[in-house]
Amino acid sequence: MSAIDTLPPLRDVIAKHQLSARKSLGQNFLLDLNLTAKIARQAGDLAGCDVLEIGPGPGGLTRGLLSEGARKVLAIEKDTRCLPALAEIAEAYPGRLEVINGDALEIDPLAHLAPPIRVAANLPYNVGTELLVRWLTPDEWPPFWESLTLMFQREVAERIVAQPGSKAYGRLAILAQWRADARIALSLPPGAFTPPPKVSSAVVHLTALPEPRFPADAAILSRVVAAAFNQRRKMLRAALKGIAPDIEEHLKAAGVAPTERAERVPLEAFCALARSLAKN
Ligand code: SAM
Repeated sequence: MSAIDTLPPLRDVIAKHQLSARKSLGQNFLLDLNLTAKIARQAGDLAGCDVLEIGPGPGGLTRGLLSEGARKVLAIEKDTRCLPALAEIAEAYPGRLEVINGDALEIDPLAHLAPPIRVAANLPYNVGTELLVRWLTPDEWPPFWESLTLMFQREVAERIVAQPGSKAYGRLAILAQWRADARIALSLPPGAFTPPPKVSSAVVHLTALPEPRFPADAAILSRVVAAAFNQRRKMLRAALKGIAPDIEEHLKAAGVAPTERAERVPLEAFCALARSLAKN
Protein backbone atom coordinates (compact mmCIF):
# COMPACT_ATOMS: atom_id res chain seq x y z
CA MET A 1 0.00 0.00 0.00
CA SER A 2 1.31 3.45 -0.82
CA ALA A 3 1.49 6.41 1.55
CA ILE A 4 -1.24 8.45 -0.12
CA ASP A 5 -3.86 6.00 -1.36
CA THR A 6 -4.76 2.33 -1.48
CA LEU A 7 -3.48 1.80 -5.02
CA PRO A 8 -0.32 -0.27 -5.59
CA PRO A 9 3.15 1.35 -5.49
CA LEU A 10 4.18 2.93 -8.80
CA ARG A 11 7.01 0.44 -9.35
CA ASP A 12 4.42 -2.35 -9.34
CA VAL A 13 2.15 -0.35 -11.66
CA ILE A 14 5.02 0.15 -14.10
CA ALA A 15 5.97 -3.54 -13.98
CA LYS A 16 2.36 -4.71 -14.37
CA HIS A 17 1.68 -2.49 -17.40
CA GLN A 18 5.21 -2.80 -18.84
CA LEU A 19 5.75 0.96 -18.92
CA SER A 20 9.43 1.01 -19.75
CA ALA A 21 10.36 4.69 -20.13
CA ARG A 22 10.62 5.98 -23.71
CA LYS A 23 13.14 8.70 -24.44
CA SER A 24 11.19 9.85 -27.50
CA LEU A 25 8.31 10.86 -25.17
CA GLY A 26 10.60 12.47 -22.60
CA GLN A 27 9.60 9.89 -20.01
CA ASN A 28 11.29 10.37 -16.63
CA PHE A 29 8.81 9.16 -14.05
CA LEU A 30 8.29 10.24 -10.44
CA LEU A 31 7.75 7.11 -8.37
CA ASP A 32 7.79 8.52 -4.83
CA LEU A 33 4.19 9.31 -3.91
CA ASN A 34 5.27 11.49 -0.98
CA LEU A 35 7.14 13.63 -3.48
CA THR A 36 4.26 13.78 -5.96
CA ALA A 37 1.91 14.82 -3.11
CA LYS A 38 4.43 17.52 -2.17
CA ILE A 39 4.47 18.78 -5.77
CA ALA A 40 0.66 18.72 -5.82
CA ARG A 41 0.63 20.86 -2.66
CA GLN A 42 2.68 23.51 -4.50
CA ALA A 43 -0.39 24.01 -6.69
CA GLY A 44 -2.22 25.48 -3.68
CA ASP A 45 -5.55 24.51 -2.19
CA LEU A 46 -7.06 22.14 -4.75
CA ALA A 47 -10.38 21.58 -3.01
CA GLY A 48 -13.08 22.99 -5.24
CA CYS A 49 -10.70 23.25 -8.25
CA ASP A 50 -10.48 21.38 -11.52
CA VAL A 51 -6.89 20.52 -12.39
CA LEU A 52 -5.54 20.11 -15.90
CA GLU A 53 -2.62 17.68 -15.85
CA ILE A 54 -0.52 17.21 -18.96
CA GLY A 55 1.49 13.99 -19.34
CA PRO A 56 0.34 11.88 -16.35
CA GLY A 57 2.37 8.82 -17.44
CA PRO A 58 1.83 6.05 -14.86
CA GLY A 59 -0.01 8.56 -12.67
CA GLY A 60 2.26 9.53 -9.77
CA LEU A 61 1.42 13.24 -9.87
CA THR A 62 -2.19 12.41 -10.78
CA ARG A 63 -2.52 10.44 -7.55
CA GLY A 64 -0.92 13.31 -5.64
CA LEU A 65 -3.40 15.81 -7.10
CA LEU A 66 -6.37 13.58 -6.29
CA SER A 67 -5.24 12.72 -2.77
CA GLU A 68 -4.62 16.44 -2.14
CA GLY A 69 -8.32 17.02 -2.84
CA ALA A 70 -8.68 18.18 -6.47
CA ARG A 71 -12.37 18.27 -7.39
CA LYS A 72 -11.53 16.78 -10.77
CA VAL A 73 -8.35 16.02 -12.71
CA LEU A 74 -8.38 16.11 -16.51
CA ALA A 75 -5.23 14.31 -17.66
CA ILE A 76 -3.97 14.42 -21.25
CA GLU A 77 -1.49 11.65 -22.10
CA LYS A 78 0.03 10.85 -25.49
CA ASP A 79 1.28 7.33 -24.67
CA THR A 80 -1.54 4.76 -25.02
CA ARG A 81 0.46 2.29 -22.89
CA CYS A 82 -0.32 4.43 -19.81
CA LEU A 83 -4.11 4.29 -20.23
CA PRO A 84 -4.79 1.03 -18.28
CA ALA A 85 -2.77 2.32 -15.30
CA LEU A 86 -4.69 5.61 -15.39
CA ALA A 87 -8.00 3.71 -15.63
CA GLU A 88 -7.16 1.99 -12.32
CA ILE A 89 -6.69 5.42 -10.69
CA ALA A 90 -10.00 6.62 -12.16
CA GLU A 91 -11.69 3.60 -10.58
CA ALA A 92 -10.19 4.38 -7.18
CA TYR A 93 -11.43 8.01 -7.38
CA PRO A 94 -14.91 7.63 -8.91
CA GLY A 95 -15.98 10.57 -11.10
CA ARG A 96 -12.84 12.60 -10.36
CA LEU A 97 -10.37 11.58 -13.09
CA GLU A 98 -10.96 11.99 -16.83
CA VAL A 99 -8.21 10.90 -19.20
CA ILE A 100 -7.83 12.07 -22.78
CA ASN A 101 -5.42 10.16 -25.00
CA GLY A 102 -3.64 12.54 -27.36
CA ASP A 103 -1.10 15.28 -27.89
CA ALA A 104 -1.54 18.17 -25.46
CA LEU A 105 -0.32 20.57 -28.15
CA GLU A 106 -3.34 19.67 -30.28
CA ILE A 107 -6.14 19.22 -27.74
CA ASP A 108 -8.35 22.02 -26.42
CA PRO A 109 -9.22 20.87 -22.89
CA LEU A 110 -11.57 23.69 -21.95
CA ALA A 111 -14.83 21.92 -22.76
CA HIS A 112 -13.89 19.32 -20.12
CA LEU A 113 -13.11 21.74 -17.28
CA ALA A 114 -15.03 24.11 -15.03
CA PRO A 115 -13.51 27.12 -13.24
CA PRO A 116 -11.62 27.59 -11.03
CA ILE A 117 -8.91 25.74 -12.98
CA ARG A 118 -5.30 25.05 -12.02
CA VAL A 119 -2.67 23.41 -14.21
CA ALA A 120 -0.05 20.94 -13.01
CA ALA A 121 2.44 18.98 -15.09
CA ASN A 122 5.72 17.16 -15.30
CA LEU A 123 6.34 17.33 -19.01
CA PRO A 124 9.16 16.93 -21.51
CA TYR A 125 11.07 20.21 -21.72
CA ASN A 126 10.14 21.24 -25.27
CA VAL A 127 6.42 20.53 -24.86
CA GLY A 128 6.39 22.29 -21.46
CA THR A 129 7.99 25.46 -22.81
CA GLU A 130 5.67 25.57 -25.82
CA LEU A 131 2.58 25.14 -23.62
CA LEU A 132 3.83 27.70 -21.09
CA VAL A 133 4.22 30.32 -23.82
CA ARG A 134 0.73 29.53 -25.16
CA TRP A 135 -0.80 29.75 -21.67
CA LEU A 136 0.91 33.12 -21.10
CA THR A 137 0.05 34.77 -24.41
CA PRO A 138 -3.69 34.50 -25.09
CA ASP A 139 -5.24 37.68 -26.54
CA GLU A 140 -7.54 38.06 -23.54
CA TRP A 141 -6.52 38.23 -19.87
CA PRO A 142 -7.16 36.81 -17.24
CA PRO A 143 -6.64 33.33 -18.74
CA PHE A 144 -8.59 30.12 -18.11
CA TRP A 145 -6.13 29.10 -15.37
CA GLU A 146 -5.52 30.53 -11.90
CA SER A 147 -2.09 28.96 -11.48
CA LEU A 148 0.45 26.79 -13.29
CA THR A 149 2.65 24.35 -11.37
CA LEU A 150 5.15 22.97 -13.83
CA MET A 151 8.31 20.88 -13.72
CA PHE A 152 11.19 22.13 -15.86
CA GLN A 153 14.89 21.55 -16.23
CA ARG A 154 16.45 23.73 -13.53
CA GLU A 155 18.04 25.94 -16.18
CA VAL A 156 14.64 26.63 -17.81
CA ALA A 157 13.07 27.36 -14.39
CA GLU A 158 15.80 29.94 -13.80
CA ARG A 159 15.01 31.55 -17.14
CA ILE A 160 11.35 31.96 -16.11
CA VAL A 161 12.17 33.85 -12.89
CA ALA A 162 15.28 35.71 -14.18
CA GLN A 163 15.81 39.44 -13.67
CA PRO A 164 17.29 41.96 -16.19
CA GLY A 165 21.06 41.93 -16.41
CA SER A 166 21.38 38.19 -15.83
CA LYS A 167 22.33 35.64 -18.46
CA ALA A 168 19.07 33.75 -17.93
CA TYR A 169 16.92 36.84 -18.63
CA GLY A 170 15.02 36.60 -21.91
CA ARG A 171 11.72 35.83 -23.61
CA LEU A 172 10.48 33.40 -20.94
CA ALA A 173 11.17 35.82 -18.07
CA ILE A 174 9.36 38.65 -19.81
CA LEU A 175 6.31 36.69 -20.89
CA ALA A 176 5.99 34.99 -17.48
CA GLN A 177 6.53 38.06 -15.33
CA TRP A 178 4.38 40.31 -17.51
CA ARG A 179 1.15 38.51 -16.59
CA ALA A 180 2.01 36.31 -13.61
CA ASP A 181 3.90 36.03 -10.36
CA ALA A 182 6.52 33.35 -10.94
CA ARG A 183 8.69 31.57 -8.40
CA ILE A 184 10.73 28.40 -8.09
CA ALA A 185 8.81 26.27 -5.58
CA LEU A 186 10.96 23.13 -5.38
CA SER A 187 14.27 21.82 -6.68
CA LEU A 188 14.71 18.15 -7.55
CA PRO A 189 17.92 16.21 -8.19
CA PRO A 190 18.13 13.81 -11.17
CA GLY A 191 17.76 10.86 -8.77
CA ALA A 192 14.14 11.85 -8.01
CA PHE A 193 13.19 10.45 -11.44
CA THR A 194 13.23 7.00 -13.03
CA PRO A 195 15.27 6.90 -15.19
CA PRO A 196 17.28 9.88 -13.90
CA PRO A 197 17.70 12.69 -16.48
CA LYS A 198 21.15 14.25 -17.01
CA VAL A 199 20.26 17.55 -15.30
CA SER A 200 18.49 18.82 -12.18
CA SER A 201 14.87 19.89 -12.31
CA ALA A 202 12.70 22.45 -10.57
CA VAL A 203 9.00 23.07 -10.07
CA VAL A 204 7.91 26.57 -11.06
CA HIS A 205 4.67 27.99 -9.68
CA LEU A 206 3.00 30.82 -11.59
CA THR A 207 -0.06 32.68 -10.36
CA ALA A 208 -2.04 34.64 -12.95
CA LEU A 209 -2.25 38.36 -12.17
CA PRO A 210 -5.74 39.87 -12.52
CA GLU A 211 -4.25 42.26 -15.11
CA PRO A 212 -0.89 42.34 -16.90
CA ARG A 213 1.72 44.38 -15.02
CA PHE A 214 1.89 46.90 -17.91
CA PRO A 215 -0.44 47.29 -20.91
CA ALA A 216 0.75 45.72 -24.17
CA ASP A 217 -0.57 43.60 -27.02
CA ALA A 218 0.44 39.96 -26.41
CA ALA A 219 1.27 39.18 -30.05
CA ILE A 220 3.39 42.32 -30.53
CA LEU A 221 5.22 41.87 -27.22
CA SER A 222 5.94 38.21 -28.08
CA ARG A 223 7.30 39.15 -31.49
CA VAL A 224 9.48 41.95 -30.11
CA VAL A 225 11.05 39.90 -27.31
CA ALA A 226 11.60 36.90 -29.59
CA ALA A 227 13.51 39.12 -32.05
CA ALA A 228 15.35 41.07 -29.32
CA PHE A 229 16.68 37.96 -27.56
CA ASN A 230 17.25 35.95 -30.71
CA GLN A 231 20.31 38.16 -31.24
CA ARG A 232 20.84 39.15 -27.61
CA ARG A 233 24.39 40.39 -28.09
CA LYS A 234 23.40 42.89 -30.76
CA MET A 235 22.25 46.43 -30.05
CA LEU A 236 18.47 46.65 -30.13
CA ARG A 237 18.38 48.91 -33.19
CA ALA A 238 20.07 46.08 -35.13
CA ALA A 239 18.32 43.12 -33.47
CA LEU A 240 14.89 44.70 -34.07
CA LYS A 241 15.36 46.20 -37.51
CA GLY A 242 13.14 43.53 -39.06
CA ILE A 243 10.26 44.53 -36.76
CA ALA A 244 9.82 48.10 -38.09
CA PRO A 245 11.89 50.29 -40.44
CA ASP A 246 11.70 53.19 -37.95
CA ILE A 247 12.61 51.04 -34.92
CA GLU A 248 15.01 53.67 -33.56
CA GLU A 249 12.11 56.11 -33.18
CA HIS A 250 10.03 53.52 -31.35
CA LEU A 251 12.92 52.66 -29.03
CA LYS A 252 13.37 56.33 -28.19
CA ALA A 253 9.60 56.74 -27.62
CA ALA A 254 9.78 53.82 -25.17
CA GLY A 255 12.71 55.45 -23.36
CA VAL A 256 15.21 52.81 -24.53
CA ALA A 257 18.57 53.78 -26.02
CA PRO A 258 18.80 52.25 -29.52
CA THR A 259 22.33 51.08 -28.63
CA GLU A 260 21.06 49.13 -25.56
CA ARG A 261 21.18 45.32 -25.49
CA ALA A 262 18.05 43.27 -24.80
CA GLU A 263 19.27 41.65 -21.61
CA ARG A 264 19.47 45.00 -19.81
CA VAL A 265 15.99 46.20 -20.77
CA PRO A 266 13.29 45.80 -18.10
CA LEU A 267 9.83 44.38 -18.72
CA GLU A 268 8.19 47.81 -18.43
CA ALA A 269 10.29 49.18 -21.31
CA PHE A 270 9.53 46.19 -23.55
CA CYS A 271 5.82 46.82 -22.91
CA ALA A 272 6.26 50.54 -23.77
CA LEU A 273 8.02 49.50 -26.99
CA ALA A 274 5.15 47.12 -27.88
CA ARG A 275 2.65 49.97 -27.27
CA SER A 276 4.59 52.35 -29.48
CA LEU A 277 4.77 49.74 -32.26
CA ALA A 278 1.01 49.08 -31.90
CA LYS A 279 0.34 52.69 -33.00
CA ASN A 280 1.82 51.95 -36.44
N1 SAM B 1 3.67 12.92 -14.87
C1 SAM B 1 4.43 11.66 -14.87
C2 SAM B 1 5.38 11.64 -13.71
O1 SAM B 1 5.60 12.73 -13.14
O2 SAM B 1 5.90 10.58 -13.39
C3 SAM B 1 5.17 11.47 -16.19
C4 SAM B 1 6.20 12.51 -16.49
S1 SAM B 1 7.14 12.23 -17.97
C5 SAM B 1 8.44 13.42 -17.70
C6 SAM B 1 6.25 13.10 -19.25
C7 SAM B 1 4.93 12.47 -19.68
O3 SAM B 1 4.37 13.29 -20.72
C8 SAM B 1 5.05 11.08 -20.28
O4 SAM B 1 4.06 10.24 -19.72
C9 SAM B 1 4.82 11.28 -21.77
O5 SAM B 1 4.26 10.15 -22.40
C10 SAM B 1 3.88 12.46 -21.77
N2 SAM B 1 3.92 13.29 -22.99
C11 SAM B 1 5.00 13.59 -23.75
N3 SAM B 1 4.64 14.41 -24.76
C12 SAM B 1 3.31 14.66 -24.61
C13 SAM B 1 2.37 15.43 -25.33
N4 SAM B 1 2.72 16.13 -26.41
N5 SAM B 1 1.07 15.44 -24.91
C14 SAM B 1 0.71 14.73 -23.81
N6 SAM B 1 1.56 13.97 -23.10
C15 SAM B 1 2.84 13.93 -23.48
